[in-house]
Amino acid sequence: MAPPDNHRYSRQALFAPVGDAGQARIREARVLLVGCGALGTHLADFCVRAGVASLTIIDRDVLEASNLQRQALFTEADLAAALPKAVAATAHLRAINSAVEITAHAADFSHENAEELAESARATLILDASDNFETRFLINDMSVSTSIPWIYAGCVGSRAVAMPVVPGRTACLQCLVESVPPSGGETCDRTGIIMPAVLSAVALASAEALKLMSGNAAALIPRMKTVDIWTGERSSVDASTPRNDCPACARREFAWLSGRHATAGIKLCGRNSVQLLPATSRRENAPINLAALARELQSSGRAVTVNEHLLRVSDATSGGSAVPLELTLFADGRALVSGTTDAAAARALYARLLGG
Ligand SMILES: [Zn+2]
Repeated sequence: MAPPDNHRYSRQALFAPVGDAGQARIREARVLLVGCGALGTHLADFCVRAGVASLTIIDRDVLEASNLQRQALFTEADLAAALPKAVAATAHLRAINSAVEITAHAADFSHENAEELAESARATLILDASDNFETRFLINDMSVSTSIPWIYAGCVGSRAVAMPVVPGRTACLQCLVESVPPSGGETCDRTGIIMPAVLSAVALASAEALKLMSGNAAALIPRMKTVDIWTGERSSVDASTPRNDCPACARREFAWLSGRHATAGIKLCGRNSVQLLPATSRRENAPINLAALARELQSSGRAVTVNEHLLRVSDATSGGSAVPLELTLFADGRALVSGTTDAAAARALYARLLGG
């Protein structure tokens, strides 16, 4: 049974700027969390422990062994069960605070579902825990078009960055960053990532989130703040004023939300894997019967892992590479192919195993 609110949240409410009034507001906050990796699990933990009304999580990935070093909530048992991250996180979050309404979507956050998701979640705040600028520009478009504030957050190596965006008041992401920056070798896969950098980004982002959720918007720090937790270097860029020629918040051109930049196969963040999205027509059909498909693939001698969320099969013959490609299929037809960054090789494997 959940403990009484007046005791449970007493230390947070004792902090003067929050107070009982702020805590009551936090209990009405409805958070949409995009991404459930390193940043996402820690931010989800923060939201649920702080006592928000609801948390809706969307994440497209399945848990991998290399995630356990820095991603909170997950256990070796989750890894063995081959669970999608959003599903695994939800079970732990419910155990932490049973009073919070938690919804998980093991799906890709895209221009096709972004608005529907924010609407069904009745989101009052969006938290960015993604690992790429395409997703962040999409969140930014959605935020500016709906006036729901969001917090940008990121981390790589020993560096962390965060910025609050309140449409109509502060600069938005596009005011400061015009287009998707070239990766320049800076991904968690190539540069690595240490837990203190994750926690620094979580600290910067969750502080601004707490201000917004508790009715302390006046205390927001409208700057893009960067900190290197290893060297101690810090910098920040003013984001207090919207740019008067910003494509998103001034001209209200939502290129990302309209799908102008959408791609059919998305290369994931330096992780040697490709995501394939089925045609819209297929997604409108009945979900794929994963158990039946697993039996079919097993009868042709393939090693298959299947659970209620996904089916995983490896293919040693594909791509001519030494490492077998591995395909993870979800019931809506979405697939992740690991072992390659070649979208054509990934599509070929998908077609061979699943008949296109
Ligand atoms: Zn802007």
